[in-house]
Amino acid sequence: MSSLSVYDYILVGAGTAGCVLADRLSQDENARVLLVEAGSATLPDAVTHPPAWPALAASAAGWGDVTVAQRGSGAPVAFPRGKGLGGSSAINAMVFARGHHTSYESWGDHGAKGWTFEDLLPYFQRSETAVSGATGRGSNGPLFVAPAAEPNEVLLACLNGAVEAGHRRAFDISGGLEEGFAPVDLNIVAGRRQSAADAYLTPALKRHNLDVVTDAVVHRLVFDGTRCTGVEYRAQGQVRTAAAAGEVVLTAGTVGSAQLLLRSGIGPERDLRRAQVDVFHALPGVGQNLHDHPRANLVYRAQRLVPAARNNHGEILGLLRSAPEADGPDVQIIFIDIPVPNPVAPVENGFTIGVSPLRPASRGTLRITSADPYAPPVIDPNYFSEEQDVQAVLSGITAARRIAWSSALAEWGIEEVSPGLSAVDRQSISDHARRYFGSYCHPVGTCMMGEDEVSVVDSALRVRGLDGLRVADAAVIPSIPSNNTNATVYAIAEKAADLLRGA
Ligand SMILES: Cc1cc2nc3c(=O)[nH]c(=O)nc-3n(C[C@H](O)[C@H](O)[C@H](O)COP(=O)(O)OP(=O)(O)OC[C@H]3O[C@@H](n4cnc5c(N)ncnc54)[C@H](O)[C@@H]3O)c2cc1C
Repeated sequence: MSSLSVYDYILVGAGTAGCVLADRLSQDENARVLLVEAGSATLPDAVTHPPAWPALAASAAGWGDVTVAQRGSGAPVAFPRGKGLGGSSAINAMVFARGHHTSYESWGDHGAKGWTFEDLLPYFQRSETAVSGATGRGSNGPLFVAPAAEPNEVLLACLNGAVEAGHRRAFDISGGLEEGFAPVDLNIVAGRRQSAADAYLTPALKRHNLDVVTDAVVHRLVFDGTRCTGVEYRAQGQVRTAAAAGEVVLTAGTVGSAQLLLRSGIGPERDLRRAQVDVFHALPGVGQNLHDHPRANLVYRAQRLVPAARNNHGEILGLLRSAPEADGPDVQIIFIDIPVPNPVAPVENGFTIGVSPLRPASRGTLRITSADPYAPPVIDPNYFSEEQDVQAVLSGITAARRIAWSSALAEWGIEEVSPGLSAVDRQSISDHARRYFGSYCHPVGTCMMGEDEVSVVDSALRVRGLDGLRVADAAVIPSIPSNNTNATVYAIAEKAADLLRGA
């Protein structure tokens, strides 16, 4: 329950970015900060237990979104995102890795300045204490990150198989500088998940100048002329307004931040009219440029018993190039110590090799159907609509199979169940991947940063053409980093805190 009536900063959404900003901005004891979160302060116990994460998206800690039917499959795809303190960082798979530095080069394509890998480096470092002590990593940040101390034996066999197949053994695959295979850093401390709420928000809650309101969906933004002066939200059955003397910062995520702009009449005129929302400020890029990493899975049955998971299931991964001439790694292979559900046959004992095109060219949209804050969004990532994404996944599947056929895995007595060895030619493999992939849960891009017409926020994350309003979360990412996204969102929020404080 909020105790102040006017705030210097109002943050909408207590996910990865919102928790960072709530902490960093409230460090100035003269700054009055309000954090409003749609979900609960109390999350299911399973949130803390790393191997339990796959069930969380369907719990009260997730929004339960699905996409529209996708072209390759004709079916909708589950599109998980977190709800509650910590947001997606409270339900995610805890892989903590920067994108490879080459993947940030395109962030300037629409004119964004100050967002190269080198520019982000101090912010990556500020967020973390990397237990490995690897060169270029942080040593004093709130997140304590480290690779699994004792990875699952089956995953170590996969790592050995990757090296046997000719891949590089990396040292620090989380640092953004290397290619090859290695155990990846995890957001796990003493056997428990460390979410953004655990690392940043909880220690800040004692501050008198920070108010946190949960179970409160922000309906729309409030304006005086072109200046955003607050938010309207519903909590405990009542609609309330919180006033901002300074700025409103959207940290509601790739879906939530775009949805809130659209509901407030900020977006492409045609889309707004179709949803019967009055156009307040035409901004054609809102909800465009939605993209994500799709992931195809190769599921193996094993004769030898796979040890029970102790961590996040995906303790080891590799970054590789789909073709030697690629600008950087554009495929991820991740080893997973359970057989994920597959369309061919049930597997009781086994493991999975996940393959994801890391630099997808496919782009989709996020739309609303009405101004109703409780109407589900229309999510269309348009997966595999570009042939280059299909080629990248094919290349990754070929590499994954070579690893599976290595002598390092022979003693596990494995059999590929899905897609299965009847899928040998390129057409049948790509048909299978396009039909049975899932979201890797890394959506970005609906409020792209840049300085051109299709950009939603400028290089300082200010919504173009309006005052007192910024977006500072995964939505601003112009093109997805070539690894899991959370570490990048932490860095964006750390930099946003400097931008807001005028540092
Ligand atoms: C199941 C899953 C697994 C993942 N695994 C990994 C992984 O292993 N490694 C990795 O790097 N990344 C992973 N990710 C992605 C990563 O967690 C996200 O990229 C990152 O957390 C996004 O941060 P964010 O701040 O942009 O949004 P979020 O963390 O999603 O936060 C947005 C917050 O805003 C709130 N909100 C939305 N709308 C409103 C509203 N109108 N009013 C009030 N509050 C609102 C939401 O409830 C949520 O709490 C995963 C994500 C999921 C869902």
